[in-house]
Amino acid sequence: MELIEIMLALRENNSARVRIDPRVQLAALYAEIQSMRSEITSVEDRLGQVSAARDERLSEIDNIIVSKPVWEREIENAKEILVHKRGLTLKEMLNIQQEVARVENDLSQADSRIESLSLEARQLSKRRKLILLRLRDLKAQYNQHAAIYNEEKVKADELLAVHDAVENDLLQKLTPEDRTVYAEALRLNPESPIVILDRDICVGCRIGLSKQLIKHVNQLRKLVCCENCVRVILPDIPGMADTTDAADMSDMPDMSDTPDMLDIQDTPDMMDIPVNELSEERD
Ligand SMILES: [Zn+2]
Repeated sequence: MELIEIMLALRENNSARVRIDPRVQLAALYAEIQSMRSEITSVEDRLGQVSAARDERLSEIDNIIVSKPVWEREIENAKEILVHKRGLTLKEMLNIQQEVARVENDLSQADSRIESLSLEARQLSKRRKLILLRLRDLKAQYNQHAAIYNEEKVKADELLAVHDAVENDLLQKLTPEDRTVYAEALRLNPESPIVILDRDICVGCRIGLSKQLIKHVNQLRKLVCCENCVRVILPDIPGMADTTDAADMSDMPDMSDTPDMLDIQDTPDMMDIPVNELSEERD
């Protein structure tokens, strides 16, 4: 295999690999999954607040129910003292009467207080149920998207592995020196490390090339790079079929300019959907 053939094959392989790169293909889906995840977190926060508010009402109701017989006994005892105890001063009697009046007031309002707390607790329970339903929907959607993402990513990774194997085979055919040159061109221009000479300009960066450089490109004894963008430049040899033209590449996302590219290792976990909690809900 001649150098030009190896390089054209590398170029085609690389361009195909850029097209299937999961970081490009799945970026939109990944972003959607992340935003679903944060919505789920905020709905869970809301659920926690509503649950706490409801539990507060319920525990206050329990307190009143437990306190009622205690209050009744207090009133009885105080009345007993007023009737039977000798030698109370007027002030002491007045204090006891005021205390009795206060507890009787609490007791008389206990039932209406329980009623209004129950009403609030029921309303909070209804809200809680709606939030749980919303949460269940969100989690189901999230899991659906996460499953698609994970499936697509496995497929893309398998395809990438095929392209990596092809690339490795081709790289073995290069001299160590050419391999180093290509590696640097790929590092700096991952989406298009190799371009074809077009008259006297570099197609990659549109900068004019020196006559000396063009001479070396056409001789192609070893790989020659554009001095400006460090892409490998190949001579335009008529008859050398080149299936990937430069126009194709311009549609590709600029991968050198995407710092927030998603982490390949980052696969969303499936989430548990608490279906049971819905049926346990007390009304
Ligand atoms: Zn260039």
